[in-house]
Amino acid sequence: MTKARDWRFYALSWFWQGVDLLFPPQCAGCGRQGVRWCQDCQHKVLPVPQPFCPLCGLPVSAPGRCLKCQAQPPAFDALRSWAVFAAPLRQALHSLKYRRNLGLGESLARQMAPFVSGLEWKADVFLPVPLSASRLRERGYNQVGLVARPLALLLGWRYLPQALTRIRETRSQVGLTPTERRANVRDAFRARTSLVQGRRVVLVDDVATTGATLDAAAQALRRAGAIEVRAVTLARALPQHGFQQA
Ligand SMILES: [Zn+2]
Ligand SMILES: [Zn+2]
Repeated sequence: MTKARDWRFYALSWFWQGVDLLFPPQCAGCGRQGVRWCQDCQHKVLPVPQPFCPLCGLPVSAPGRCLKCQAQPPAFDALRSWAVFAAPLRQALHSLKYRRNLGLGESLARQMAPFVSGLEWKADVFLPVPLSASRLRERGYNQVGLVARPLALLLGWRYLPQALTRIRETRSQVGLTPTERRANVRDAFRARTSLVQGRRVVLVDDVATTGATLDAAAQALRRAGAIEVRAVTLARALPQHGFQQA
């Protein structure tokens, strides 16, 4: 950790410890009683195998850019993922997204922070990939924000979720081909020039598959004048774990 932990992180952490006392949690990975994210599940988190493409972070057979990034480089400068999208992290992310497992965000942020810190990125603005207004109303919270906010506090980064908005409702990317994914999220975002112009931005998302959503978000940030856009995700969906890539 490069910076002293923000007192607000401790406040958030104590808050969730209080909630845990009132409502004893279950491990989001394996269901064990009494913890949000148990030690066993933490140890089962798999790092993305090396070597990977320096741009999109996809594992490649030989060092260097992947074929897709050679043909059409993304709008972001780099995408890195903390872990492979596989059990038990997959269950944990599902729980974060669909079961209002709010305190889990803090547990995941705590475990992921040394990885993000180790990237040695500079961030003037740190923000989660936003949901559309209608999706936010429906779910009541942005699951990525639940991890991004404590992560920003741990890293000492300026958290500005309002810098990027999703202006168009997009259907779920699940089950779409890479081409369909790109079309689905094209022009779906708008960034606020006053907050990102001349700044280095780091985006965070839960799962990256082809990187199409992050690419579209990065395009909007670039149009608004961001000088660098990097992205980090909790997980990366990989073909050897059942996901199709480009
Ligand atoms: Zn567990
Ligand atoms: Zn690539």
